[in-house]
Amino acid sequence: MEYKKMLIDDLRESIDTNSVSSEDLFKEANKLAHEYQSDINPFVTIIDKYSCRAKEKNILTGIPYALKDNFSTSGILTTASSNILKNYVPVYDATVYKKLKNSGAVLVGKNTLDELAMGGTGTTCHTGVVKNPWNTSRLIGGSSAGGAASVALGIVPFAIGSDTGDSVRKPAAFGGIVGFKPTYGRISRYGLFAFASSLDHVALFSRSVKDAAIVTNVLKGQDDLDMTSLKDDGKDYVATLNNDVKGKKLFYIKEACNLEAYDNPSDMLVNTIENFNKVIENCKNIGITVEEVSIDVSILNALYPSYMTISCAEATSNNSNLTGIQFGNRIDGDTYEDIMFNTRTNGFSELIKRRFVIGSYVLQKENQEKLFLNACRVRRMIVEKMHELFKTYDGMIMPASGGIAPKFGERSDTLSNEYLILENHLVIGNFGGFPSITIPSGFIDNMPVAVNITGDIFKDDLVLNIANKIEGTMNYKGQIVGDKNV
Ligand code: GLN
Repeated sequence: MEYKKMLIDDLRESIDTNSVSSEDLFKEANKLAHEYQSDINPFVTIIDKYSCRAKEKNILTGIPYALKDNFSTSGILTTASSNILKNYVPVYDATVYKKLKNSGAVLVGKNTLDELAMGGTGTTCHTGVVKNPWNTSRLIGGSSAGGAASVALGIVPFAIGSDTGDSVRKPAAFGGIVGFKPTYGRISRYGLFAFASSLDHVALFSRSVKDAAIVTNVLKGQDDLDMTSLKDDGKDYVATLNNDVKGKKLFYIKEACNLEAYDNPSDMLVNTIENFNKVIENCKNIGITVEEVSIDVSILNALYPSYMTISCAEATSNNSNLTGIQFGNRIDGDTYEDIMFNTRTNGFSELIKRRFVIGSYVLQKENQEKLFLNACRVRRMIVEKMHELFKTYDGMIMPASGGIAPKFGERSDTLSNEYLILENHLVIGNFGGFPSITIPSGFIDNMPVAVNITGDIFKDDLVLNIANKIEGTMNYKGQIVGDKNV
């Protein structure tokens, strides 16, 4: 089988039976990375030297992978795709990177992202836009844009990203691959550049649900360096993929998924809901009950503004260390205030500055109660509603997006009134820290679409098990760009 089509099990077997060496796999990955770089731009840095130093052998030993460029890697340029860090080489390793290094997984490159992980288009990276490999006139989405493109192209079988609002699960949908965000704290965030700490998660791309389970098994666990990390639940997420889903119950939100909720649905929306309904049929055929649930539309409409309020506030505070004083791309000035002013004015793009202005505004004393604290209240209301629903249901199933990846220029970092709920419900997973997975569910106009399944906190095994079974009712497991897209 061709390298780029191989899943982790296939790669493992090839290495173990000596039919290929890990170094050969790396060379293949490196060749593909260079081949696609000029057209698609998945990487800020491509690693050209093979390095595999396994301290403890496991299933990922010798397997190539890619890492988003907002994870600290000592001795390797780490830019977060921002001008302000364009020459920054860290002196410490993120825990995720350390774990993968100790496993002997082989780093192929650092993936391009929307600057500082803010944004959802893959167009704000300091090294240029990331294109969607299924169709280069369309975006791949973000912020983990390069990771999604790398896995969709088969350059690597898995890539590590971060997800604060939807940054892995949305680009996974646009790239026709799997995107999994485990429970908040399941994977240590030490060394991941903080964007919005109450929402940030380490998440990952793969081309099958099983591969997502394999990678999560290696990465999960408590870390003394991250006080929000969770004690290991002791479960083997591959072993818990038992296909036993009979009697499981899912719901979807009527206000987003029922065409009757829309005055004037576009053809794209109609096709998206049709695709979703097919998946629902598949669920029913394998013994999963799916029910429609209504949620107060005023809370749902407040998801995006609340997310923006909370995330910008936290981002403003978290990124106040980027001054050019201790590290980063310093622009000089006469006083330390001038240095900070010049560095930040030059270092950040317009999107980042806009978000810092929003963040500072909502945190001002006179605005805090009305803006910041109200956003936190909305967050609490939706999370409580979800907890109530999770007493009856094992999970929520929704289309991952309102349609296929937009063309460049069609989408920007602004509030869109069209499909406000459908385009933004993935933030519910971050609000509550819920495990949440996107899996491909077909094609519209030759572009991939996907569904998302979100479950109750700590139930990563259940979410993966349900997703794995649903994946089995369709034909998209393991797909890469160029596979028959019907
Ligand atoms: N697209 C969202 C935003 O613009 C989510 C970003 C993320 O998850 N990192 O902030």
